[in-house]
Amino acid sequence: MNDCLFCKIARGEIPSKAVYEDELTFAFRDIAPQTPTHVLVIPKRHIANWYEARGEEDALLAGMMRAAAKVAELEGLTESGFRVVSNTGADARQTVQHLHMHVMGGCEMTEKMG
Ligand code: 5GP
Ligand code: ZN
Repeated sequence: MNDCLFCKIARGEIPSKAVYEDELTFAFRDIAPQTPTHVLVIPKRHIANWYEARGEEDALLAGMMRAAAKVAELEGLTESGFRVVSNTGADARQTVQHLHMHVMGGCEMTEKMG
């Protein structure tokens, strides 16, 4: 999508700090990190949210999860642990309408998630 922020980041039109990339996904540091490690994993192709993703090919959906695990490995979080969060829609406070998973770690997180 031409005017989508994360599409522009995936195309390199807006600079970002890349962490990982493969054929289907791109991972980069969140501009306003909420934990010492805070990386966003996105599909390179525009998909608005998890509901819209239901018709996507399995390779892309599985690739998103593999990319999140790969980011955790690259960031040295596999032993200490990490959290993967993905907001869809208004109640969940999704602010960028391009599917993304937050990979967060590097500190002990709060119990509360909702
Ligand atoms: P959401 O609230 O939609 O789940 O998450 C959107 C995330 O995108 C937020 O954590 C926000 O800090 C991050 N973000 C917004 N604009 C930019 C940007 O231009 N660059 C980067 N790297 N992250 C961004
Ligand atoms: Zn997009």
